[in-house]
Amino acid sequence: MQNIKLYNFLTRKKEIFRPIRKNWVGLYTCGPTVYNYAHIGNLRTYIFEDVLRRTLEYSGYKVKHVMNITDIDDKTIRDSLAAKKSLKEFTKFYTNEFFKGLESLNILSASEYPLATAHVPLIIKLIEKLLEKGLAYKIGGSVYFDVSKFKNYGKLSRLKKLDLKIGTRVDTDEYDKKSGEDFVLWKAKKENEPFWASPFGEGRPGWHIECSAMSMKYLGASFDIHAGGTDLLFPHHENEIAQSEGATGKKFVKYFMEGEHLLVNSRKMSKSLGNIFTLRDLEKKCFDPLAFRYLALSAHYRSRLNFTWESLEAAQNALDRLYGFVASLRAEKKTILSAKKMARFREAFQNAIFDDLNTPKALAVMWHLVHEYNKNSKKFNPKDVMALFYEFDEILGLGFKNLKAESPSEMANTLLKERERARKIGDFKKADEIRGKLKKMGWQVNDTGQGSQLFHL
Ligand code: AMP
Ligand code: ZN
Repeated sequence: MQNIKLYNFLTRKKEIFRPIRKNWVGLYTCGPTVYNYAHIGNLRTYIFEDVLRRTLEYSGYKVKHVMNITDIDDKTIRDSLAAKKSLKEFTKFYTNEFFKGLESLNILSASEYPLATAHVPLIIKLIEKLLEKGLAYKIGGSVYFDVSKFKNYGKLSRLKKLDLKIGTRVDTDEYDKKSGEDFVLWKAKKENEPFWASPFGEGRPGWHIECSAMSMKYLGASFDIHAGGTDLLFPHHENEIAQSEGATGKKFVKYFMEGEHLLVNSRKMSKSLGNIFTLRDLEKKCFDPLAFRYLALSAHYRSRLNFTWESLEAAQNALDRLYGFVASLRAEKKTILSAKKMARFREAFQNAIFDDLNTPKALAVMWHLVHEYNKNSKKFNPKDVMALFYEFDEILGLGFKNLKAESPSEMANTLLKERERARKIGDFKKADEIRGKLKKMGWQVNDTGQGSQLFHL
């Protein structure tokens, strides 16, 4: 098995990945809070995690991937009440929408999607253990983690002991480094909120404790990789370490991986800033969700990526060209041996992806192959090139295998869609160019109130 290097936030270094158990990887990724549609910033993180998982599987590891679904927290309660729906009905709808989004992005299903509300007894047990060990305390029907009692608090986020505000508490699940305070494990019952009985009184779990309880249930007290977006580094992942290592005395996770954010006009895409787009917004403008996947792959997961419609359009065009290339390979019937050449491209691709998932470099290797082939196709066996494209796609997940053979009318339809997109983002020059191209192919475009249609000339 070839070495894979991954950047570990615990050491702030790229390290050779060595799993705890032979050939088996336990991977936990923090899942969505299901109170609305996931935005494409969230989805960028899930694409990064999908590439991570696919890379591990491609190189021969068996991966158990667990992703939690946060179906109870301040936001799910607030918005289900506003929608006059039960928490269950409300969160179920958005959970299903979340799964549909993952599918359209070719994100592989996790081995388990545990719901927080289905694990409350397990969470209560973990809180009891923390109380027994003197790492937590009760006050006013709630339970808090005492950060001053856990020696290594701050080891992931590099928060200094001096920054801890001993004896003060935060009740909200989301806060920043300025709050080096005791955080809530169990929230006392409030009016109109769902609640469970517990030895500490009626109430509900905080957010951080759910991930400790569920990750250890499905992957064991110590497991290999924990991933999420970089906003989770503090407090969420820091608190998970404190809860888990505090309770078991064992090292919780070997590698912490944090993906950088998707930005809009240089600010993090987030619901609270009101600058979000969902897959539905992309589809309304005639973009394929996989164009967003391509866009995400075009940046390294540890770099910020600024979202613009123009960059999405460039990604969609690149993807369409790759699809066209794969479709044309299928139609070829030559048999020249080019296995050696293929091995060189394979090696370059692997070197990129095994170096901390360098997807932009991996895409560049793929484009290099396209250009070399187009320059001198006689030197290649199209079947070998196609097979290598399929192999790359085990990691990239752009859907090359699912392509149908392209007929002339399908090509025209692809162009028509491209023209629709250009019109929707106001690029009329391009829309006119495509109209001309279609005309040359024998198609007339008619724009109607319901969209554009093609007629054979
Ligand atoms: P949430 O549903 O808010 O708990 O977030 C789900 C996942 O999306 C987490 O891993 C977050 O770190 C991640 N995330 C949130 N906003 C962004 C963003 N703008 N770019 C990338 N990832 C994000
Ligand atoms: Zn989590």
